[in-house]
Amino acid sequence: MNTELILKFDYDLNCKLRMFKMSKRTLRTYFPSTSGTGTSATPGTNDSTNQPKIRRVEFSQSNVVGDPGNRKPIEEYAHEIRDQVRRAYALSGPTQPRNFIFPRKWQTGQWRSFQKTWFDEFDWLEYSEKKDAAYCLYCYLFFDPGKLEKFGSSVFAKDGYVNWKNAKDTFNQHSTCKTHNNARLKCDDFMN
Ligand SMILES: [Zn+2]
Repeated sequence: MNTELILKFDYDLNCKLRMFKMSKRTLRTYFPSTSGTGTSATPGTNDSTNQPKIRRVEFSQSNVVGDPGNRKPIEEYAHEIRDQVRRAYALSGPTQPRNFIFPRKWQTGQWRSFQKTWFDEFDWLEYSEKKDAAYCLYCYLFFDPGKLEKFGSSVFAKDGYVNWKNAKDTFNQHSTCKTHNNARLKCDDFMN
């Protein structure tokens, strides 16, 4: 009697396992695991294949990465969602961690650090705690990599500015440089 019960239990369990494996396989065939394969497999029908993809890869406020040193460049986002990314970051505003204890570094014969008062003077200024570096929100969002770079726009957009000795002078120069002001205007236009 006991062995009979055990055998029955074994049989039930096997059935359940088989069903579980099947449902897993069905799910996998229904939702392909790699989003890229669909597009590359059918290169001629971009419009129709991209439609559902656009709806799936959305970017909202909750996807915003606070630390500018951790963000990926805008051009690495899918073309269709770049405006969503820009809008979300523009609405969040610059990352200005005023309560952070900025680390001191020995630079050109003196201990120097980022000064939080700079946040009051430059509304575009962002600070990365991870990289101990300064960034520009407008240049991150609307930097044109094809344009000739002046006053380190790509530094403020991507790499981060780390030399605190003449930081304020550099920030002032950046505030008035064409690349920065173009980015700023583009942002204003975009948000209005
Ligand atoms: Zn800028």
